[in-house]
Amino acid sequence: MPHDGLPTVTRTVGIGNRLLATLPPADIALLAPELEGVALDQDAVLVRAGDEVEHVFFPHSGAISLMIDMANGQTVATAAIGCEGAVGILSALGPSPSAITAIVHAAGTASRIPASRFRAAFNRSPVLRHALQAHLSAMLTQFQLGAACNALHPVQVRMARWLLNLSDHIDHDVLPLTQEALSQILGVRRTTVTLLMRNLRASGAIRSDRRGQIEIDRSRLAAVACECHETMRLEVDGSASTNTARSRFLGVGDDERVSLGALVARSGKDYSVTAHPTNVGNRLLAALPPADLGLLTPHFQKISFEPDAMLVRSGDELDQVYFPHSGAIAFMVDMPNGQTVATTLMGREGALASLSVLGPSRSSVTAIVRVAGTASRISAAKFRLAYARSAAIRQVVQVHARTLLLQLQHVAACNALHRVEGRMARWLLQIHDRVPDDALPLTQEALAQLLGVRRTTVTLTMSKLRVAGAIRSDRRGFVEVDRTRLESVACECYALMQRRIDRISCQELSAPRLALALLQESSFVTSGEAGEDRAEIKAASPVRE
Ligand SMILES: [Zn+2]
Ligand SMILES: [Zn+2]
Repeated sequence: MPHDGLPTVTRTVGIGNRLLATLPPADIALLAPELEGVALDQDAVLVRAGDEVEHVFFPHSGAISLMIDMANGQTVATAAIGCEGAVGILSALGPSPSAITAIVHAAGTASRIPASRFRAAFNRSPVLRHALQAHLSAMLTQFQLGAACNALHPVQVRMARWLLNLSDHIDHDVLPLTQEALSQILGVRRTTVTLLMRNLRASGAIRSDRRGQIEIDRSRLAAVACECHETMRLEVDGSASTNTARSRFLGVGDDERVSLGALVARSGKDYSVTAHPTNVGNRLLAALPPADLGLLTPHFQKISFEPDAMLVRSGDELDQVYFPHSGAIAFMVDMPNGQTVATTLMGREGALASLSVLGPSRSSVTAIVRVAGTASRISAAKFRLAYARSAAIRQVVQVHARTLLLQLQHVAACNALHRVEGRMARWLLQIHDRVPDDALPLTQEALAQLLGVRRTTVTLTMSKLRVAGAIRSDRRGFVEVDRTRLESVACECYALMQRRIDRISCQELSAPRLALALLQESSFVTSGEAGEDRAEIKAASPVRE
């Protein structure tokens, strides 16, 4: 049974955790007095969804699954975290309830620190912010590849992927996993797990399965699993090593840089950049007090974007932050076989590349315009300066990061659990939220990309939705929908996800909470681009440049 409360072990804190290991002595010294070593017991619950995050955990060994709870009590794992990462680290951006439940699925050890202490150190150390960013981009990668894998690959190969994923975090071939745990991870019934295990045993990928111990044959398991495991491992390792090799992106040569212009040329679309003043259609900006918004507005450029324009490509340096006022941008992940799958949609409730505030970084997503619209654009460097000066801006970035991760996890879970009709209806509702009328500018091609399915499957699914009255017509790149009927056809994910995201946004983007944030965090240490010269900047002090 899962249980709370971890016994504290007495030995000193080692640096088996890779995030901690990358910190220079001065920054580790900020944390060290408060770090304590703890044992991660099998099935222990480190944090439950909805609970305030009390501790940040840095695992040295073992594996922790991040689980999302669905409406019917079902759970699905969306990521596994081991010594390369941390659990609860997003609380560094501000006190907040956890969006996920974290359960130990392979026992190990960790260092933990009270969330408030970590936040204090985080506010003083650009290096810690950088470590958080590396971790977040690894998480984004894992969530997105996971979501795509769930959409594309059968449950048999996904089970093999999870077994490999967990075995990466332990140094032997016996995984301490019950069938119950596997059914929670995959979001399938116990009987399905039994069937899948039997198949894997027949192929030699599982050697034995007794009393909650699964003995695997790694190479045979790898032969059965989809390529997603290897892709995920390489990408997550890649983000982790950018954390150590800071120069890799801090000293990007001009030749390595892909300019926005080049991207536009590649996608065959153009932006019309106009100089008219910015009005605040973006919900994050709208939540900012005038003084804080005033730190940004002088640097905004208003742009309009056209369908299929690529705003950023995975791996590109993030040099612009976009606040959409209208339209919809899809986050896409490219699979090794060239297939493209959408993992989330962002409109005026979000900001593209906002996590670049934590330091110069490369994008972990490809962002493509799905519905034309407008946005305010600001250079990442200017946005970082304002972020350092304004607790209110830090608060909206935090809220946005959490809603984004929540949406990614929901999509991953939905892809694992629900049929293509329900998922298509969910995407159509998400797009409908971002256009003014019932005619959605969507080609079958675009829908195939959103869902990660073939065109023929799109045609078939659309005809089912047409029979149900949820789609009225589908002509010349426009899908006309009947919202009420669409809602009745969609899986419960749309309503559940919307409710959870609205709760976060309403509670935390309201003025009192922002005012509180301003009072609580009066100062924030920022640094030059190279992270060398540190200077303290008082919150909400006027910008002079
Ligand atoms: Zn896969
Ligand atoms: Zn769903």
